[in-house]
Amino acid sequence: MFVLSLCFTVLLSASFALLLSQNSPEGARSRRVMAWLFALIAAFTMGRAAYFILKGISPSMEMAGDGGWINLVSPMVAALLPVVGTTAFLLMCSERIGRQWELAASTDYLTGLPNRRTLLTVGERRFGAAQPPARRLALAVIDIDHFKSINDSHGHEVGDVALRHLAEHLRAACRDGDLAARHGGEEFVVLWEGLDTAAARTAGERLCAQVASEPLRTDGALIPMTISMGVAAAGEADRSFHDLLRRADHALYAAKAGGSNRVVEATDKS
Ligand code: GH3
Ligand code: MG
Ligand code: MG
Repeated sequence: MFVLSLCFTVLLSASFALLLSQNSPEGARSRRVMAWLFALIAAFTMGRAAYFILKGISPSMEMAGDGGWINLVSPMVAALLPVVGTTAFLLMCSERIGRQWELAASTDYLTGLPNRRTLLTVGERRFGAAQPPARRLALAVIDIDHFKSINDSHGHEVGDVALRHLAEHLRAACRDGDLAARHGGEEFVVLWEGLDTAAARTAGERLCAQVASEPLRTDGALIPMTISMGVAAAGEADRSFHDLLRRADHALYAAKAGGSNRVVEATDKS
């Protein structure tokens, strides 16, 4: 009985260590419940074995019921084990599903970038946090030039590849604290923390030049791609993140009207 209890305890302790060694935040709560459940059962198993040994009770006497109170508790623990285990497992599943829903609702399925919903949530929060006059929050509204013709000439799938291609550029250009998001269709937004209008313009121009210098490579074809951008930095006149977004959007119209593949700074009022 002692050897069996020892084997069972080693197995449970290994499961306990394995569960606690995993760092992923996914299902962390239910993993902890499971781990401590294993630890409790391991302790109980060893305690039970020690009790029998100290009392000098043999397995046959134990079967006959001479184990006293501990024989009463053992079936209870055995009955509770699947209930608590199943509950923790279901909790783990529901946590995982919840997290996946959250991710799906906040991410653009095609590019993997945050979607418009996330952009607006983060934008409003950061706009609120960046108080004037030291407000340092800038953004760019970015639109792929003549994107429809990429779709029309090469097909919708290549259009999708072009969107992912630009998303990679934006991701690579982001530093800690910046946010690149897909605003919708072939329009993206980059949120820069700590930049004023001039710095945002410089960052935007760098991005424009990078995209223009790296044509999209598809099966046997090089497709030139350029972007236009309206940039704006939060100012006194902006009452909300939407105001800032609207000014950058108007600047984007001006960039398109000016011939595309360029950056235009937003005016203070638009
Ligand atoms: P402009 O230079 O003025 O920006 O013109 P444009 O052709 O880029 O813009 P337009 O608004 O005329 O066309 C945008 C196209 O983007 C039309 C739409 O079918 C396409 N589009 C929107 N979302 C997606 C998508 O997820 N995948 C693909 N492949 N195309 C998309
Ligand atoms: Mg567009
Ligand atoms: Mg476009």
